[in-house]
Amino acid sequence: MQSEMYDVVIVGSGLGGLLCANFLSNEGYSVCVLEKNRQLGGSLQTFVRDRCIFDTGVHYVGGLEKGQALHKIFTYLGFMHKLKLQPLNEEGFDRTYFEGEEKFYVQSIGYDRFVKNLIADFPNEALAINTYVDTIQHIVKQFPLYNLEHGASDFISDMPMLSINAAQFINTLTQDLRLRAVLATPNVLYAGEADKSPLYMHALVINTYILSSHRFVDGSSQLERLITKNIRNNKSKVINRAKVVKLEVEDEQMTKAILQDGREIEGKLFISAIHPSPTLDMISSNMIRKSYRNRIKSLENTASCFILNLVFKKNTFPYKDHNIYHMSGHDAWGAINYTQENWPHSFAFYCCAHSKATEYAENGIAIAYMRYDEMKEWENTYNTTSEEDDRGEAYQKFKVEKAEKLLDRMEKLFPNIREQLHSYYASTPLTYRDYIGTHDGSLYGILKDCNDPIKSFVAVKTKIPNLLMTGQNLHTHGVYGVAIAAIKTCSEILGHGYLIDKIQLANEE
Ligand SMILES: Cc1cc2nc3c(=O)[nH]c(=O)nc-3n(C[C@H](O)[C@H](O)[C@H](O)COP(=O)(O)OP(=O)(O)OC[C@H]3O[C@@H](n4cnc5c(N)ncnc54)[C@H](O)[C@@H]3O)c2cc1C
Repeated sequence: MQSEMYDVVIVGSGLGGLLCANFLSNEGYSVCVLEKNRQLGGSLQTFVRDRCIFDTGVHYVGGLEKGQALHKIFTYLGFMHKLKLQPLNEEGFDRTYFEGEEKFYVQSIGYDRFVKNLIADFPNEALAINTYVDTIQHIVKQFPLYNLEHGASDFISDMPMLSINAAQFINTLTQDLRLRAVLATPNVLYAGEADKSPLYMHALVINTYILSSHRFVDGSSQLERLITKNIRNNKSKVINRAKVVKLEVEDEQMTKAILQDGREIEGKLFISAIHPSPTLDMISSNMIRKSYRNRIKSLENTASCFILNLVFKKNTFPYKDHNIYHMSGHDAWGAINYTQENWPHSFAFYCCAHSKATEYAENGIAIAYMRYDEMKEWENTYNTTSEEDDRGEAYQKFKVEKAEKLLDRMEKLFPNIREQLHSYYASTPLTYRDYIGTHDGSLYGILKDCNDPIKSFVAVKTKIPNLLMTGQNLHTHGVYGVAIAAIKTCSEILGHGYLIDKIQLANEE
């Protein structure tokens, strides 16, 4: 079989792989992105049920307002003005509800508004709220790349703040259990664990949403389409149904990617935009030390989830211009350690934004944590491009039972939801495993641990000089985190600061 040759071969067409391909093909590199699925985009994928568009893995995005990092990056790439976005409510883009209490608490856009609205609800806690906000902003400044600024390399191993625990920090600020839970609510956005999650992760994630919060109108796959178009216009390639099964190394250089169907794609440089663990499984070279393999293999991933994709009857369920986090108590960290009895301890709810929107929502998504070990009975069944197993009646029954339990919980906030529902479709950790390609359907990839920050650190460079890493496992996940990681990865090829200068320049014009 004849093989093809490129300057850069990228494994995975999630946002990380696509952005690297766009940055590099803009600079004249011939790039080939290889994607195992039929649909491109990884977590940017959308799907349609009952004529409603559902997002797989992007429900709202921060940093998209003029002057902010994602706006600048997408302006540089030439498509910011083409994105169909809907801003979330400035007074409260996120609302925290506690079961049995009517009052809700908000996270607002803009630091001044954020502080003002929280102090209005917690008038005796001004010091705690101001300290929280000052600390978040101070931490974010330690990561210049996040602000598209030149500076010392991010994630320096001796940065003391990498070891600060988010839950402990919040608990030291106040004795008020409600305020603790409200400040900790964004931990859902990084699948936070009370004894492990670092404060820097909390800060980087919540900061992007306090800057600005938007939903994609008609789905996040528009981002994939715009980037893929750019790549193809640059005469580079994005190939679907191209599962990489082996990465070959000869004379201390990676030489080719071998696909499941036998095709061989040769390259001068390689970027893995998938989880590092399956990446290492594809490389047999002993240039990758056993200790490194063992470290990566031993890393814990963030939790997975159960999702109810809800289709509403026409004109029944009022559209919400904010996101909802509903907790059964005042412990915002407890949901992840649910028991069978108290599941779902908490849930998140997002309305989907549509271009034909009325004051009513067409569809929405409810999410609750679910551990992969609940999938043991069916874990050897696959639903992928190349395999389609019937998971059987027991799996269908499991999904219905969980869906009904989640709806029972949702009824506490939306008493009429069952009458408003036209239909629902459930996704489990197996759905995410098969779509995204992690072995446990993890929401956001590797779990960052403040007790040993260096252990969960994945470097861009590897021991194979022409193999680089990118994607959500590098630093932080999400559209914002992955875009920053793509700049960091490409900086190893184009030179440090090169892309930042080009992005800043494009925004001055
Ligand atoms: C349920 C859920 C909700 C989320 N909500 C938000 C949100 O509201 N806002 C936000 O900003 N972020 C959100 N995220 C996170 C965000 O979607 C991800 O962090 C980001 O999209 C990851 O991009 P990536 O490129 O690193 O990886 P992925 O999107 O995981 O892409 C990896 C790609 O590699 C492909 N692949 C894997 N193995 C192979 C192989 N062997 N050969 C070829 N291809 C392969 C996969 O099929 C996939 O397409 C959410 C994620 C999930 C799961």
